[in-house]
Amino acid sequence: MAQNIPELYGSLVFNDKIMRNKLPKDMYKALRKTIQNGTHLELDVANSVAVAMKEWAIENGATHYTHWFQPMTDFTAEKHDSFISPTNDGQVIMDFSGKELVKGEPDASSFPSGGLRATFEARGYTAWDPTSPAFIKDGTLYIPTAFCSYSGEALDKKTPLLRSMDTLNKEAVRILNLIGNNEVRHVSTTVGPEQEYFLVDKKLYEQRKDLIFCGRTLIGAPAPKGQEMEDHYFGTLKPRVTAYMHDLDEALWKLGIPAKTKHNEVAPAQHELAPVFDTTNVAVDHNYLTMEIMKKVADKHGMVCLLNEKPFEGINGSGKHNNWSMITDTGINLLDPGKTPAENTQFLVFLVAVIKAVDEYADLLRISVASPGNDHRLGANEAPPAIVSIFLGDELTEVLDSIENDTFFNSHGAVQMDIGARVLPHFVKDNTDRNRTSPFAFTGNKFEFRMLGSSASVANPNIILNTAVAEALRQFSEQLEKVSAENLEQSIHNLLRENIIAHKRVIFNGNGYTDEWVEEAEKRGLFNLKSTPDALPAMISEKNEALLIGHKIFTKGELHSRYEIKLENYVKTLHIESNTLAEMIQKDLIPSVTAYMEQIARTASLKKSVVPDISVAGETELLTTLTTLSEAMAKSLKTLKEDTAKASACDNLQESANMYQSVVLADMETLRKSADAAEALIPEALLPYPTYGKLLFSI
Ligand code: ADP
Ligand code: MG
Repeated sequence: MAQNIPELYGSLVFNDKIMRNKLPKDMYKALRKTIQNGTHLELDVANSVAVAMKEWAIENGATHYTHWFQPMTDFTAEKHDSFISPTNDGQVIMDFSGKELVKGEPDASSFPSGGLRATFEARGYTAWDPTSPAFIKDGTLYIPTAFCSYSGEALDKKTPLLRSMDTLNKEAVRILNLIGNNEVRHVSTTVGPEQEYFLVDKKLYEQRKDLIFCGRTLIGAPAPKGQEMEDHYFGTLKPRVTAYMHDLDEALWKLGIPAKTKHNEVAPAQHELAPVFDTTNVAVDHNYLTMEIMKKVADKHGMVCLLNEKPFEGINGSGKHNNWSMITDTGINLLDPGKTPAENTQFLVFLVAVIKAVDEYADLLRISVASPGNDHRLGANEAPPAIVSIFLGDELTEVLDSIENDTFFNSHGAVQMDIGARVLPHFVKDNTDRNRTSPFAFTGNKFEFRMLGSSASVANPNIILNTAVAEALRQFSEQLEKVSAENLEQSIHNLLRENIIAHKRVIFNGNGYTDEWVEEAEKRGLFNLKSTPDALPAMISEKNEALLIGHKIFTKGELHSRYEIKLENYVKTLHIESNTLAEMIQKDLIPSVTAYMEQIARTASLKKSVVPDISVAGETELLTTLTTLSEAMAKSLKTLKEDTAKASACDNLQESANMYQSVVLADMETLRKSADAAEALIPEALLPYPTYGKLLFSI
């Protein structure tokens, strides 16, 4: 890359510098105010921004613009309009108005709405999100937008995310002011998502229906080598992967996405990319773009980027780590323990709020990462378990113990402070984060939520996290607002103490993969929601409705529509997987087995015809085994088809999902066993699809 990276970086983004250069001063100021404080944007400002954006976009080769939005699928959506506007004399001018910038009206009828929008009322509209910068991609100006129905219901993920950020801002500022920090006007949440992915050769990918239709393999005998040598993690990058990562970085940097870290992951063919963190809604938009660009760049390199959570059985799946914190407009990270007693108190208030939030809404956090693909990871002895718990590290746990027990915390020279909390020594960062099994780990100045699946939108977990923490802070404020100034310090201490006692059950610093922990968690009354259908009903429980509706993140209709869409998505995904597996077995694998059996039989009879009393014991044994396996496959296939038909015919969506989970998935496992056993016996030349060995080790 002989180019000047600082110059390249953000070159396709309508960023602050360009706005400042292109906009009249008063217009620029008005826009900044909207971006910073979320105030209403007047039409004259919008018009001015539209003109500047259009000019800049055209200068950079764009001919079209699109309102880019995040419907309730896991993908983004876009409809492109050109800037051309015909004039009377048969010519065109390039035109773009403030109205077109601020609002779009895509036909919304074909997006999932979970019953929110009656079919006769198919109009939806998109509304510009000025807090996430516009950018150019493939000759089109992309404008990040929220997507709503005409009656104002959110049909997307950005709207509730922005609402949750507002709520958290409001409650965080409120408590900061209460505990004596009066300078802060605004609190944002920050997110840095670490993204895992697999790369496979495109030619091999194209020979596998399961990868094409489901994004993951449904059968496949283990390769002679897996990840047991632990030689891939942080290993030297292969030349093809290096070339890919290089182009990927460049594409992301141009779009102002601060791709920072890249390395090989644990499984063969698995890699990771992490950007520098950003404000949550920008980080969410960027992660969507990152996933899209990862796939596009892979295609150019003759590879396919797999983002499914579990592409291969027997080796690690892919997740996404959601590093999360809160930052004030005065530049303070609220999860940084700080150096002075006041900073420590502030830190402890926010830390305990997060602990309370995660304990009380562990079910919602679990649901926010629930998907059919992620069900294969969570609890499967590689990713975090399905039980949500918090890792704090020993020393921070000791600090909380000392508050709980009113004892003196004195490790590392800590000194007592007035309210009975202690000045926290600057230890935390180096000592934590080496617990890889915890789903929700404190890593020095942020929390790392590790349960996300690799393909999912980062919006969902952050909506829940922001709102749950906002609710905890709201309750803290209610309690503290009642006390007089001279009692404040003691009251904060009491509040921390009460909440540590009430919620310490969610703290667990041990190994989350053991059976003992599952038992222990059950004793502590923690949720263990194993699968998506198990978890989803809690989405609309009274407690969770009260949180999400109470904070105006969702209306009841919006929440229930999301519950239905999640169920529908689960049912559809499993249905497609079942059909794909059935087709691969019936049309590809069984014919291969038959062909091989013919070959063996021919060999045996040929041998006999030449040497009449020669032994054909080997052929006989192989034939017998293959016959048994092929009969087992035929039988399991029949069961799978029947059970899939039953699950699919079930009118009740939740029951249907339960059936797919408990019956169809089990049928697929059974079928897979004989299929994989047969595959292991068939010569490579007769196999209808490439093996795990080829898929995982050919790049
Ligand atoms: P790890 O040991 O998990 O690799 P890193 O220090 O590399 O930890 O950080 C991982 C991610 O966390 C990066 O995307 C980084 O930008 C992000 N991160 C760091 N600080 C914060 C913060 N205050 N808020 C949100 N994300 C953060
Ligand atoms: Mg990490």
